[in-house]
Amino acid sequence: MSSIIQLLPDHVANQIAAGEVVQRPASVVKELLENAVDAKATDIKLIIKDAGKSLVQVIDNGLGMTVTDARLCFARHATSKIRQAEDLFSLGTKGFRGEALASIAAIAHMELKTKQEQDELGTHIVIEGSKFVSQEVAVLPKGTSFAVKNLFFNIPARRNFLKSDTVEFRHVMDEFQRVAMAHPNIHFSFYHNGSELYNLPAAGYRQRIVGIMSGKTNEKLVPVNEETEIISIQGFVCKPEFAKKTRGEQFFFVNDRFIKSGYLHHAVMAAYDGLLKDGLQPSYFLYLQVPPNTIDINIHPTKTEIKFDDEQALYAILRASIKHSLGQFNVAPVLDFDR
Ligand code: ADP
Ligand code: MG
Repeated sequence: MSSIIQLLPDHVANQIAAGEVVQRPASVVKELLENAVDAKATDIKLIIKDAGKSLVQVIDNGLGMTVTDARLCFARHATSKIRQAEDLFSLGTKGFRGEALASIAAIAHMELKTKQEQDELGTHIVIEGSKFVSQEVAVLPKGTSFAVKNLFFNIPARRNFLKSDTVEFRHVMDEFQRVAMAHPNIHFSFYHNGSELYNLPAAGYRQRIVGIMSGKTNEKLVPVNEETEIISIQGFVCKPEFAKKTRGEQFFFVNDRFIKSGYLHHAVMAAYDGLLKDGLQPSYFLYLQVPPNTIDINIHPTKTEIKFDDEQALYAILRASIKHSLGQFNVAPVLDFDR
């Protein structure tokens, strides 16, 4: 009997992996924005058309790539961010899997323009469905631009599965807001079908949150500050009287990465115990820093879930520090009286 097992060609493997990494235009937005952050950009521009279905472009002023790297970045498991398995325990970057660009290039038309500061000329590459179409030397500014067009052009089932522009736009907006909120020190701008939606100058946490959420947010915020050996907590929770019926404005960032955690959410709610009317939800914007070796973010390709070493201790610290902040806010008027 002849053997029947074959290794899949790269472009097929990439297309399969893409199913996991790229669900919708917003997934492309997230990966490209995070790559720009990892490239140490101080200015990042997001441009989309038709909710990202026709175009997602991210332009940064970061490190750029050499001509060799510009070509290699589309290969699967090609990354500059980790070299060995141990590096997974001390991650300082958003990316590390080296599969986003390979996946996106497998299922879209992609254009890369990139130049490093010290180079005279940059590189311009067009790749479609994992096939290199052209590669040229080009006059470019320092930094990188990725444009992704016609997402899922070769997977009609996926393309048809996309929701309305309104829904897809909402997802893109969520990703933009999460990355922009996680990195207030970076100037972000965002354009949809030619109109500017955001232009956020480099700022601190409070100004960035207010810039994204709306001017009225400022007066609702109570600062949270906690420093312990296993965690540092910064950020804001909202005064109980501003709690809402929906869960729209609840954000955890762990080591500058937006994450979802039902467990930590529960800790916040426990801190509000007795302060909220039934069923109302507080807004919160909480920035947690923990030693990288105490978390595992390699659970899912999109990395919105992470595992903490000592969840229970974090729960207790988070709950206590928010309770403390809310308490201080409550006694403030009495102290004013004493003056
Ligand atoms: P990962 O981010 O996990 O390393 P990606 O497929 O997203 O994998 O990117 C592959 C590599 O391409 C990165 O490791 C980085 O070296 C390079 N790269 C991607 N985007 C940029 C960018 N905007 N600026 C500079 N280099 C980039
Ligand atoms: Mg990446």
